[in-house]
Amino acid sequence: MNQGRLSIESICPFCGKILDGYTVLDNDGGGPSDGDFTLCVYCLTPLRFTFGLRLRIMRDDEIRELGPKQRKQFTRMATLLKDLPSFKGGKETH
Ligand SMILES: [Zn+2]
Repeated sequence: MNQGRLSIESICPFCGKILDGYTVLDNDGGGPSDGDFTLCVYCLTPLRFTFGLRLRIMRDDEIRELGPKQRKQFTRMATLLKDLPSFKGGKETH
């Protein structure tokens, strides 16, 4: 798992929040690249980086095709993110 700041701002296609940091799963180092998986820190939606580090919501079939290792990473990441102040404070109250 690899964390850092994005050089460009990406917007979560689900909740519309600006994501200027990233936590990349299944990446051997460096920043996120085309095709990497991530999770929105605000709404915990599984996302995938596409060309130009834009984000799109992962399709159901992509989630189904995740290996056991990746599933584990997603679960671990979701658990970690729930403890982050950004997650607690970032949730919009309607
Ligand atoms: Zn989101």
